Amino acid sequence: MKKNELLVIYGKHYTEMAESLCARAGLSSMILEKCGSRSADIAIKPNILGPIPAKDGATTHPEVVRGIIRYLRSEGFERITVMESSWVGDKTSDSLLVTGFGELCEEMDVPFVDLQKDSSVKKDCAGMELNICSRPLKADFLINVPVLKGHCQTRMTCALKNMKGCIPSSEKRRFHRMGLHEPIGHLAAGIRQDFILVDSICGDLTFEDGGNPVPQDRMIAAVDPVLCDAYGCSLIGISIEEVRYIAVAEACGAGSSDLSRASVRCLREAEDRPQDEENISGIERSAAADDDMPQAEEEEAYKEESAAAVSASLIRVRELVDEVDSCSACYANLLPAVRRLEEEGLAKYLKDRICIGQGFRGKSGELGVGECTGYFRNNVPGCPPDTERSYRFLKEYCEKQKSLFRG
Ligand code: SF4
Repeated sequence: MKKNELLVIYGKHYTEMAESLCARAGLSSMILEKCGSRSADIAIKPNILGPIPAKDGATTHPEVVRGIIRYLRSEGFERITVMESSWVGDKTSDSLLVTGFGELCEEMDVPFVDLQKDSSVKKDCAGMELNICSRPLKADFLINVPVLKGHCQTRMTCALKNMKGCIPSSEKRRFHRMGLHEPIGHLAAGIRQDFILVDSICGDLTFEDGGNPVPQDRMIAAVDPVLCDAYGCSLIGISIEEVRYIAVAEACGAGSSDLSRASVRCLREAEDRPQDEENISGIERSAAADDDMPQAEEEEAYKEESAAAVSASLIRVRELVDEVDSCSACYANLLPAVRRLEEEGLAKYLKDRICIGQGFRGKSGELGVGECTGYFRNNVPGCPPDTERSYRFLKEYCEKQKSLFRG
């Protein structure tokens, strides 16, 4: 598979689709070309950010990884490992149980490495020193299996940001203090992704922790993470400029975001599952070809609907929350609580914005969420506090304000 190529497949047989994409991409030849032997140490990095099932739009479907493992085995590769670390606040071991990855690894007799327990090394990543888990760096060939979805802080997440699962929790917190975009972009220069298979089956196009999955029944294969993410932006209806880490990664030499030079091949899964193939050069021609697809109209409607939902939701949240360098789990846990307050007509009684994030450490204020705002007059404790705890605290706070208002 060439660097400027993107392979896209639609369908509902996820394991077979993943196998098919690996075969069409020539994954076996790519591994042999890079590693020279079938005994290569192959690492698969899905997105298992928390104990959330894939159907909710936040985590990789185990069926996709099953398809990759089946393909690799059929080609004679046996040294396969799945590795990941869940986000700050959740244990990877709990996530394995809920997502089905624990069961998958056991059933397929593939070792799983919990990167929350891994050692780490400092590495120069195009002029920025970052702390990276040791095990993924030792692998001969790294297969990244991200979910294409929205993100409340970076707008979207796909191949580039999924590598954040390969750094220790302390470094994840530091990434947030650094504003995410710069370190995510630089990380692409520190960990090489050799092959990418994107799970775009039902990603939540609003928030990374899911809850509003948008069925798309699609997978994408790529070798350039920058191109892959640029294409992902076009699929979910946002501009590349809105996701600043794409430009940072490009400037660090991790790939090209130039979609006009991309060659997109659309494979379509038919009823009896032989594949139709369409060769398309350039993103415009790809879009034109998609017009012939029955999914295209539906997909356009999803894009419009989801883009509107993303904007409306983010605008409301930004009005109510003052976020400075918060960890993903902390912010993502707070948002559903704020949404509930809004739905219940209580949010209007918030006399101050809710402060959250490491930028508030050591500072004082009226209303804060998480350990970082521990000096605030009203504080939801926890690192990170869960949604229910924040909701109950904020609800009580709003009800108090409401009674004062009436009095
Ligand atoms: S309380 Fe602070 S350090 Fe803890 S998860 Fe929230 S933002 Fe991160």
